[in-house]
Amino acid sequence: MKVHFWGTRGSLPASVVAETIRAKIFKAIKASQGRSFHNDDAIRQFINRELPFSVKGGYGTNTSCMEIINGEDYVICDAGTGLRDFGNYVMQQGAQRRQTFHIFLSHLHWDHIQGFPFFVPAYIPGNKVNIYGCHDHLEESFVTQQNFNNFPVPLKAMNSDIRFTVLDPGKPYAIGGFTVKIFQQNHPGNSYGYRFEKAGKSIVYSTDSEHKKDIDNPSYSFIAFFRDADLLIFDAQYAFSESLLTKEDWGHSNNMSAVELSVRAGVKRLCMYHNEPTVDDATLEEFLEKTRRYLALYAESYPLKIDLAYDGMEIEI
Ligand SMILES: [Zn+2]
Ligand SMILES: [Zn+2]
Repeated sequence: MKVHFWGTRGSLPASVVAETIRAKIFKAIKASQGRSFHNDDAIRQFINRELPFSVKGGYGTNTSCMEIINGEDYVICDAGTGLRDFGNYVMQQGAQRRQTFHIFLSHLHWDHIQGFPFFVPAYIPGNKVNIYGCHDHLEESFVTQQNFNNFPVPLKAMNSDIRFTVLDPGKPYAIGGFTVKIFQQNHPGNSYGYRFEKAGKSIVYSTDSEHKKDIDNPSYSFIAFFRDADLLIFDAQYAFSESLLTKEDWGHSNNMSAVELSVRAGVKRLCMYHNEPTVDDATLEEFLEKTRRYLALYAESYPLKIDLAYDGMEIEI
């Protein structure tokens, strides 16, 4: 089973401007000073092995969208702008074949649905697009997003078979080859986390979720929801101090809560997600390093692998 991140930014797409690229080129040239390269392969090796990720790459610009690849239908979490790239990829793979998509929505804030009008497979007759969420206004949000004042093409002009299903967080479902369990989260207007289980493996998708003071309660409800997950995808948009001082009640969580809950729940791998859109790649890379250092302080011997999601990242479990 594999996870592919198509969009990892929170709140709104991040920009990359000319100055961003120039700063990366400057750092790369500086790091190469005094070196000589005999051929192109030597240059590639230098880039791959010696430049930090924030210089040779970047965390990407798209808003929330993640795919779980398990050999059956397409399973997607959230329909941010990353959904557009996913749809284009699917079309390249073979537009002739009719396909089924299961799209689970954490909630209906704009950064989680704004990619849908640009999702090309939804325009193809014969494709099935199943959209799941737990808010009563699920379908209404998609219709409104594409009313004429907002977008030139209405939802009903997308010619695939699009169906909306409002799920009940109280019960498990069998969808797309997974047992899917749902959990209500603390976010303005509520959001929902999803736990996908199949063949003894589990992936938890928990974004746009704020953890407040009761996090310290030994029987905090999220511990059971995250319990023994092979992979936990966790909203860590803020640093701990930020979430406490200036951004309380904004509905997002932080990197220290991510580590603590992962350790307490016996999670095997943590991937932080919903990255802050206003910071640069070097700052995000440093944020990841600080989080790894915090794990060493909090639970030195606990073997938790920590990543920070980026557009295009894949994790195999
Ligand atoms: Zn969001
Ligand atoms: Zn939100």
